[in-house]
Amino acid sequence: MKPVNASKLTVTSKFGPRTYTYRGQKISDYHKGIDLIGGSEIIAVADGIVTSICNSGVQYGQACYVRLKHNNGWQTLYYHLKSGSVCVKVGESVKKGQKLGIMGATGQATGVHLHFQIDKGSSSSAIDPYDYIFNGKSFDGENTSNQSSNKSIEELAKEVIAGKWGNNPERKQRLESAGYDYSKVQARVNEMLAGNNPKPNPTPSVDILTLVKKTIRGDFGNGEARKKALGSNYDEVQRQVNLNLKAGLTRWDNIKLF
Ligand SMILES: [Zn+2]
Repeated sequence: MKPVNASKLTVTSKFGPRTYTYRGQKISDYHKGIDLIGGSEIIAVADGIVTSICNSGVQYGQACYVRLKHNNGWQTLYYHLKSGSVCVKVGESVKKGQKLGIMGATGQATGVHLHFQIDKGSSSSAIDPYDYIFNGKSFDGENTSNQSSNKSIEELAKEVIAGKWGNNPERKQRLESAGYDYSKVQARVNEMLAGNNPKPNPTPSVDILTLVKKTIRGDFGNGEARKKALGSNYDEVQRQVNLNLKAGLTRWDNIKLF
């Protein structure tokens, strides 16, 4: 999915802990979204309802933004928009790809960029948007509001091992905000990792590592194209790709199998 109508987006600041200089001051915080540059037209990543906006702002002051609520239980936030550019109203239904405004530098921004965030309504429940934007991870199909608290510990532990819930402290926060008992899930994860690991066995004749490297290099495209190119190896390769990206391993010679 894309929050900006652009053929190429560049990440200027990732989700997670960061240290940066803002107006001469060194600041350390936990970045609740992802900062992007490239293009200028801000668009809805999925169908949704506009829950709040601000259309008048100034750099280093009030930020202009749009917040959408989606059917899958997640909300998306488009922040630092250009003052006066917001072209949707609160309560309005928007379609995927619909223009919301123009990229800007209102609020606590040192330059023009989009701060894009996925959460459950506030920053404390934010998750990393990277895989949704750059690795074709499905956002539209996820229905977290309905499946909340319905998964078994066993199922959740497998998802944790597959990297779906991120690492601590993000993992704890996300599991708890979805209504699950973090300590029970984590205990099962530890058991699984110590004993019988449910890792699927890759076909021995296929070099998974090379496939992972090529996937990260972009050889197989994204989403459905990637799925098709990788065939029966897709699940394992994608799992390894996600683990490498989480660990910040993106160079051909430092990508590894976990
Ligand atoms: Zn940001």
